[in-house]
Amino acid sequence: MKKVLPTSIEITKASASKIGQVDFENLNFGKIFTDHMFICDYEDGVWQNPKIVPYGPLTLDPSARVFHYGQAVFEGMKAYKDDQDDIYLFRPDENFHRINKSSERLAMPAFPKDFFFDGLTALLELEKDWIKPGFGNSLYIRPFVIATEAGVQASEANQYRFMIICSPAAAYYSGDVNVLVAEKFSRSANGGTGYAKAAGNYAAQFYPTNLAKQDGYQQIIWTDASTHEYMEEAGTMNVFFRVNDTLLTAPTSDRILDGITRKSLLEIAKKEGISVEVRPVKVSEIIAAAKDGSLKEAFGAGTAAVISPIGGLGYQGTHYPIASQENSYATRLKNALMNIQYNKAEDPFEWRYKL
Ligand SMILES: *Cc1c(COP(=O)(O)O)cnc(C)c1O
Repeated sequence: MKKVLPTSIEITKASASKIGQVDFENLNFGKIFTDHMFICDYEDGVWQNPKIVPYGPLTLDPSARVFHYGQAVFEGMKAYKDDQDDIYLFRPDENFHRINKSSERLAMPAFPKDFFFDGLTALLELEKDWIKPGFGNSLYIRPFVIATEAGVQASEANQYRFMIICSPAAAYYSGDVNVLVAEKFSRSANGGTGYAKAAGNYAAQFYPTNLAKQDGYQQIIWTDASTHEYMEEAGTMNVFFRVNDTLLTAPTSDRILDGITRKSLLEIAKKEGISVEVRPVKVSEIIAAAKDGSLKEAFGAGTAAVISPIGGLGYQGTHYPIASQENSYATRLKNALMNIQYNKAEDPFEWRYKL
């Protein structure tokens, strides 16, 4: 039986699908988008007129607030297809709550839950052929909100647009990355927007990351802004360290994004009997562990790559390689998480959401 959606969403279908022109064997992450997009506008104090239209450019006034004051937040989530062609999302409630938490911090209005889920469901129903079966294949889903009101007064807007666009993704193996531990730059500060998925947080990371790239590092490990003594995040991912057999990661705070991958990996690790410590992680203890060989692994965690292993750390002009590990926690945890996402394993935490 077809799900009856309580929200009436006006759907305008694309005249032809682009899917035949897509080389699914050679996808570059985030470059190709599906045939349709979901749009809902906020005006006169209400979200209204949810609709699905063919994917394409927007027309906005050049003075739209998003271009000047950066009121923009986003989410990243994925849809997965199992061998029976059933489609699953992973903990989508978490993304829904987080986009509203991000919006609140940027003085933007909360998006209603029924619009979020009905819009998402209707869009994925249209785009289901873009979700390819096979471990590692997925449809990357990008909900976002921008301030559309015209006028450059420096105050929050009264008009917004919520949208969802989708991009087919394959498993990506970037290889081990070398990361530079930040000694000067910061991505977030106490009382700031670090916990929000705000577009501006990303904008501010590119310049220091480019400087790190000139020194041969692909990413930066962000440390706390006031002392640079504690490890916080790796690039745009949460960061984990394995010292001997204990997995360490920082507690979330107003500086650290509350990643869904991070908290899911913590639950899986506990269930697998891995010793886990969620506590402030000192740069000095990780460097000491790298020197004496007890630093066995380090990795970033986030929806796009799931787990991204770190092959070495740069700190105060010295490079500390991390030897690759047999039976790594990274591989174990990544497989356990993906087996749940792709309906290849029991789902003891009830994280899967079947469409
Ligand atoms: C999105 C994001 C993450 C990862 O969050 P997930 O919910 O696991 O995808 C981690 N850190 C930052 C800064 C992020 O923007």
